[in-house]
Amino acid sequence: MDAFGVIRRAVEVIRVRRAGAPAACAVLLLAAFAALVPVSLADQPFAPSRDYDLTHARIELRFDLEQRKVLGQVTHTLSALRDGLRQLHFDSVDLTISGVRVDGRDGRFSTDAEKLHVHLDAPSKAGQKYEVAIRYDGKPKKGLYFIFPDKSRPNQTRQIWTQGQAEDTRYYIPIYDYPNDRTTTEMIVTVPGDWETVSNGKLVSVTGAGQGMKTWSWSQAQPISTYLITLVAGELEKQSETWRNLSVDYIVPRGQRERIAPTFSRTRDMLTYFSDRLGVPYPWDKYDQSMVDQFVIGGMENVSATTLTTRSLLHPVLARESLQQSDGLISHELAHQWFGDLVTCKDWAHLWLNEGFATFMATLWQERRLGADNASYARWRMQGGWMRQGRLFAVPVVTRDFNDSLRYAGNIYDKAGLILQMLRVQLGDEAFFGGLKHYLEKNRLGNVVTEDLVKALEESTGANLDRFFGQWIYGAGAPRFAVTSAYDDATQQLSLSVRQTQRVGGAVGLFTVPVEIAITTAGGTQSFPIRPSKAEETFSFPVNGAPLLVLFDKGSRILKSVEFRKPPAEWIYQLQHAEEVADRAAAAEALGDVKDNEAVVAALGEAAQRDRFWGVRVQALTALGRAGGAEAGQRVLAATSNTEPWVREVAVEQLGRFKDDASLPERLVEIFRRDAAYRVRAAALNAYAQLKPGGGLSVLQDAAQADSPDDVIRRAALRAMGPLGDDQAVATLLEWSAEGKPIALRTAAIASLAQLDKKNEAVGKQLIAYLDDQAFDIRTAAVNALGDRDDPAAIPALEAMLRRTDLPVNFSNVIERQIARLRHTDTDADGAQASAAGGPAPAAGAAAAPEVLDRLRSVEQTLTEVNDRLKRIEQALPAKSAP
Ligand SMILES: [Zn+2]
Repeated sequence: MDAFGVIRRAVEVIRVRRAGAPAACAVLLLAAFAALVPVSLADQPFAPSRDYDLTHARIELRFDLEQRKVLGQVTHTLSALRDGLRQLHFDSVDLTISGVRVDGRDGRFSTDAEKLHVHLDAPSKAGQKYEVAIRYDGKPKKGLYFIFPDKSRPNQTRQIWTQGQAEDTRYYIPIYDYPNDRTTTEMIVTVPGDWETVSNGKLVSVTGAGQGMKTWSWSQAQPISTYLITLVAGELEKQSETWRNLSVDYIVPRGQRERIAPTFSRTRDMLTYFSDRLGVPYPWDKYDQSMVDQFVIGGMENVSATTLTTRSLLHPVLARESLQQSDGLISHELAHQWFGDLVTCKDWAHLWLNEGFATFMATLWQERRLGADNASYARWRMQGGWMRQGRLFAVPVVTRDFNDSLRYAGNIYDKAGLILQMLRVQLGDEAFFGGLKHYLEKNRLGNVVTEDLVKALEESTGANLDRFFGQWIYGAGAPRFAVTSAYDDATQQLSLSVRQTQRVGGAVGLFTVPVEIAITTAGGTQSFPIRPSKAEETFSFPVNGAPLLVLFDKGSRILKSVEFRKPPAEWIYQLQHAEEVADRAAAAEALGDVKDNEAVVAALGEAAQRDRFWGVRVQALTALGRAGGAEAGQRVLAATSNTEPWVREVAVEQLGRFKDDASLPERLVEIFRRDAAYRVRAAALNAYAQLKPGGGLSVLQDAAQADSPDDVIRRAALRAMGPLGDDQAVATLLEWSAEGKPIALRTAAIASLAQLDKKNEAVGKQLIAYLDDQAFDIRTAAVNALGDRDDPAAIPALEAMLRRTDLPVNFSNVIERQIARLRHTDTDADGAQASAAGGPAPAAGAAAAPEVLDRLRSVEQTLTEVNDRLKRIEQALPAKSAP
């Protein structure tokens, strides 16, 4: 699944805040991300012992649409795994069981909060088969969701959809609900006659069911784990294609048909590429992708029927302004059809076998479609992003500690994906992909742990991978290198001192990794492979003259950080001449730290306009923004002529940092009016507001009148009113925050209201009223806005909200934190967050200056990480969640 999809919900709030907000605010927001995750990735740390083997589940569902109730019958075929069972247990939460039949006769049963226990008349014999039919109904709190129109969303089309992972299928079907068993399924669902439905496997029939209803029968003939069972039903429309004789359907809410092509047009190419690259053809009877509203995550890889959030459904105009479009999400979920669905982790400790591969395969698709430079750049960004999240460092990829879901997710997605890429480079493509083919075939329709992958790779390649898996998968962290070089002209030797500075201890050790050293002199470039393995060692290389450039880990193949002190001239040489994207990007990043250096600004300015790869231009632009100064501002302005909208957007964003240049507001208005891309125009409004020009409000108010695809411009204008800081905006914002306006505009307006006219009681009262709004997004925005306004009058209302029983998982933490802010008792929380975010643990009771500085540094790192993540999300999913 795409767990980070939920973050998109918070993106809007963050984007407004990040520009002017103090760093501590971003830390709080990071915690809010964790709190907003309504779906957990993992619950039970160990797979339960099995009493029986579930072989078939025939699921029949009807609905009471008024009551939002599910009326179900499920018939399980199973066989006992041992003698002497007196009961059969099924996971079942909040379901009312009205009857159970065992082999056609009424059976006795009992229930508790988590289980249905079916009593057997006689003790079982191992291998004995049973057919257990269960009639039930319930109003699921999780697992199955009714998305219907309400006051907040009067135009909402009616949709019902499910989300099983991690252990939520039990909220709408009494069933064995853990990955370590597989069953074939039938989904027989009766819905209004004009609805579409989607489920696993083949559509067998659609028949009339009387009273304007129809019954759809789906059959999944190969066994799957029950968290991958799905149903999507509702007022949807479908477009069909075929691929190698299989149907490939796209299902979207009614009225959204024109978004199907820009969103999904490469699905069949992906199917071909993944099938051929893995040597294992797409394994299921069909491939459906359904887009549903208010989906709780980004996407879910249900077998043969992926469910995705409509936030990734692209407006045709905006799709043209995006490089990746929705391919990141679509390729991730498609890759799961092999890694996760065909071969499924046995328990959540090994979930990286699903998520790491899906992350890796999505980058592989990027490499295929957009070229090696794009993929290298994405990996380089991912490496830096992971290394900056200190809180992930001490946790191994394989862990059974699921309490901190973001900490756990941060390793099984990006880090695991990067580890697989390292393995690919170290084994070579032929051996690596051959090994994956063997792994998939050997474990086809099975459940696996990490050792199954190790064993399959070793069988296929002969390579011993114990050290590799030991340090990267079972061990934690990554090497942090400190490198210095010295050239001796007399002996023509370059010596490289290499230290590993990561704090060794716990699951973090010293790393043994292959590293390529590339040394460029006037005579050309030579490469030397080395293998650092110690805390400190020195390597010597013969060179034919003074080096112009020394690269440690050319192309950044290894997940690591490097502190390699070089003079600005060498970084400039690297920026201009390094062959690989990662090395040029790293040079741009390093040069952003050099202050008041004309040559550096000139080189960055040159790179921002002329580097052959767009990502290096982006890095040069952000480096110029950090370097600051009048000349840097002019260089950034010049780079707004870049042809790619996603580069121009970064240039425009950076202009918001040059507050001393009085001519910039006008230039930004010009860009807003003239630029061809909506995302650039939206960024121009935000940057304009950052500069706080006099009379700026009328510009933003005019912009808020303009119609644009998905209201990109109006949303940006409303969001910019907060940072602009003109209290006159309050009336406009109150109007746009009101019930009946589109949710995305309401949340934008509320986020801006949080920052303005803090003495105005009417605003506070209105925000308190939004705590009861029907839309979750509005309630969340209101909670955060009340915390921002620093008005203690909001405390009783927030406390009352805390007492409600229908709060989504962990949402009470978000409320509590805002209450603490209003009481000014959250200073400790900030410190705790900062040290959890990767800084060294502060000395107990002492706030000595170096520790404060360290803390500040780690807060800054966290902020950078948040921004990186936002960038990635925005690049991947531009249409609705970001301009
Ligand atoms: Zn996934």
